[in-house]
Amino acid sequence: MTGKPYSGKILWVDLGAGECREEALPDSLYEQFLSGLGLAAALLYRRIPAGADPLGPDNVLGFISGLLTGTPSLFTGRWMAVGKSPLTGTWGDANCGGRLSPAIKQCGYDGIFVRGISPRPVILLVDAQGARLVDAQDLWGQDAIETERTLRERYGGGRQPAVACIGPAGERLSLIAGICHDYGRMAARSGLGAVMGAKRLKAVVLKGARPVQSADPEKMKALSKRARRFYKLNVPLPPGRFMPALGVLLRSMPLILRMDGLITTKLYQKWGTSSLNQTSVEWGDSPVKNWQGSYLDYPARVSAGIDPDKIRARELKKYRCYACPLACGGICSLDGKGGETHKPEYETVMSFGGLLLNNDLEAIFAINDRLNRAGMDSISAGSAVAFAMELYEKGRLTQADTGGLELRWGNVAAVQALVEQMIAREGLGNLLADGVKRAAQRLNGSSPEGAVHAGGQEISMHDPRLDPGYALHASVDPTPGRHTTGSQIYYDMYRLWTRVPGLPRPGLFYSRSSRYRASAENAAAAVANSCYTQLFNAAGLCMFGAFLGADRLPLFEWLNAALGWHKSPAEYMQIGKRIQTLRQMFNLREGIDPRALKIHPRAAGQPPQSAGANRGRSVPVEAMMQAYWQAIGWGDDGRPTPETVRELGLGEYSQR
Ligand code: SF4
Repeated sequence: MTGKPYSGKILWVDLGAGECREEALPDSLYEQFLSGLGLAAALLYRRIPAGADPLGPDNVLGFISGLLTGTPSLFTGRWMAVGKSPLTGTWGDANCGGRLSPAIKQCGYDGIFVRGISPRPVILLVDAQGARLVDAQDLWGQDAIETERTLRERYGGGRQPAVACIGPAGERLSLIAGICHDYGRMAARSGLGAVMGAKRLKAVVLKGARPVQSADPEKMKALSKRARRFYKLNVPLPPGRFMPALGVLLRSMPLILRMDGLITTKLYQKWGTSSLNQTSVEWGDSPVKNWQGSYLDYPARVSAGIDPDKIRARELKKYRCYACPLACGGICSLDGKGGETHKPEYETVMSFGGLLLNNDLEAIFAINDRLNRAGMDSISAGSAVAFAMELYEKGRLTQADTGGLELRWGNVAAVQALVEQMIAREGLGNLLADGVKRAAQRLNGSSPEGAVHAGGQEISMHDPRLDPGYALHASVDPTPGRHTTGSQIYYDMYRLWTRVPGLPRPGLFYSRSSRYRASAENAAAAVANSCYTQLFNAAGLCMFGAFLGADRLPLFEWLNAALGWHKSPAEYMQIGKRIQTLRQMFNLREGIDPRALKIHPRAAGQPPQSAGANRGRSVPVEAMMQAYWQAIGWGDDGRPTPETVRELGLGEYSQR
């Protein structure tokens, strides 16, 4: 059956009024913004009043699917949570896999949007009887995995429902709380779990069966068949113990080798994202000792504790998100006694590994499981612990402040106890549960020392001193501090120059110093990276799929076949630019000064490190931000110029 890949409908829920209603949206909205993050930007800009309290009734929390989800495309099972972030005060979004994205569409919607505050804990249930709010007092206080299990049993039978829920962190309004799905996976960033908790919405339970259509499903299948062959390629990989040597080789090379994402996908197929744990430390990609250290503080004999083979040895089964040919996920043994847990991602392993000088894998598995159950972002949580450890080591915190914990680097028992404090919001943990920026305001006074974030959000475990693109994107993206929004390595892997005329093409080898220039060429690449990211977030595509490269993964062709359009890659990139610009306009309307989102100087090498893989490197963040703003048409202060607003057809938004 052929048709549109979108339903043209959303579910609008007012928790205060206890109402759920369907709303039809015009085709013109999809023509301008596609679906996914684009649709969300258009709706939230209009429906969240300026200055709304992120934890108040006027904030709107969205659960959105992607335009291509449910069509015969690959990697298109990602869903996103959106809303005004209580952590940063900016546009907030978070991305997750699993099968919630198809479930939203199978219920007949492109997105579900929730405003208001319920007088009591509720769940939103959507099934064959329609959408309704159901009392959830009995679930309040349960962890995210218990909650999902209970709801699947309660509403299972036949087709299993898909569940998104919060754990205790969201209920307790921790500003680093995420939204959980699939027994502990998480849309972790931007603190949107706290928005859900403030609304007293414990869970969304979706059980629909409507098929998703596309204009030319046969063409889509043929495109997918061709892309699939890359995942069948057998590339021999060395054992995990050789991975530090790869990092040493990369850091020793006088030139940068342009990264090919085909290799990355092979690594992820074998080990998942933790494949590069030790490589990253040696290479200078993974921050060490709260961004002050290097491989010299966490050498290979120590990081051997997080060898990817040791993680893989605990893997009981692999799993994949909906429509994914790669399967980077895994269920692992938690404790060797029958307990199971998700394989920890690279971000979690390094946030609780090198960042704290810890190499106890057993403890990292246990912490990962605790955070998944609590519904707390592991990047932010690990960063908060690292910040507290630094203060303790410098004598600015004592055992009187920590509840008796000796927060010495590598003291994993103290780390685990502090994580429990954070989940329970007790003692020092109560402060850290709202992220490092707020904790620093209380503990450090006006000094930002050691509180590494961008715009209030803790940054991920990829060091901008190695790849300055991380500093730029963490600082200029309307959701600050997100590593998935862009980097120079991603630009290399996306290979956009093969499809979009006029974009810079990096050589197979290029000079290291060229990365640190605020040049027009680097800015053009970064803008293309941003636009492509927004485009694939509108489509619902996993970025690990995009790593394959735009010449191998047929995103533009899938979109044309799904929609019956004949747009060029450049025209699709313009849609990405429209989404990026509208998200920026959202921030400006909220009174955010884009210059204030700049990444913490320590992560940008200001001052530069004196030792380690990134010694002597400093990123000219402000100049790079200026170059980016100029290239995208946002003016010197990060404000989209009237010409840009006009060119993108966003005039009706700028007048609000
Ligand atoms: S690559 Fe991994 S995260 Fe991406 S869709 Fe596949 S299983 Fe999910």
